[in-house]
Amino acid sequence: MKKNRTVAFIYAHPDDETFGCSYLIREIADGGDLPVLFTATRGDAGKTGRLGEMTREELAAKRDIELDKAIEILGITTLEQAGMGDGKLKEADPAALRELIADFLRRHEADVVVTFPEDGISGHADHIVIHHAVNEVVFGGQAPSVQKLYYNQLSSYEANSSSIIKIAENGNWDVKRRALAAHESQILSIERVFGKLGPDVPPGQQVEAFELGWERGVHFPIKAERTIFDDLN
Ligand SMILES: [Zn+2]
Repeated sequence: MKKNRTVAFIYAHPDDETFGCSYLIREIADGGDLPVLFTATRGDAGKTGRLGEMTREELAAKRDIELDKAIEILGITTLEQAGMGDGKLKEADPAALRELIADFLRRHEADVVVTFPEDGISGHADHIVIHHAVNEVVFGGQAPSVQKLYYNQLSSYEANSSSIIKIAENGNWDVKRRALAAHESQILSIERVFGKLGPDVPPGQQVEAFELGWERGVHFPIKAERTIFDDLN
């Protein structure tokens, strides 16, 4: 059995990983396993928060620095960004996007994948494109090392026809708060979700939720899991 597990987070923009997965990523890193991150875009069409006007090039460069800071705080060991059109993933060649994701998963021999749920969690069109691309790659066997696929849901998410694992804050709010703060250009959307960042865990942020969407060919298996590594080969 392989000792270290690789968990691939496949996302659209810098900050998607921090919003919904900080507790999980820190826990994976602290356990000696490898969280790796792919983002399809550099987030250069986003807002600039309180930083004032910026060109797309300036914002892309700023968001690179922000993401570097955040991944260091979270313990992500590998980052790859495809630099595709931010806000325009729907217009991208779906086969090319799938191949980028599949290539990333194969090269890093990902055991587990985490991505957006079907509604993109926020409804963002780029998020929904990523959800479907990851599904097709994993379901189609383009990344044979992958044994499980999880969808990152809102913390309050509940379902009867699927299994959800909730990852507790467990002292990691400070990690998440610092990683969120690193995404300085996104502070307005961060404050909309988390309020003004302070030492206390915001209401509704005691857990992060991950729905098991697929495990070795089975869609939405029903099982009680202690960790995302349960039952891996
Ligand atoms: Zn996003």
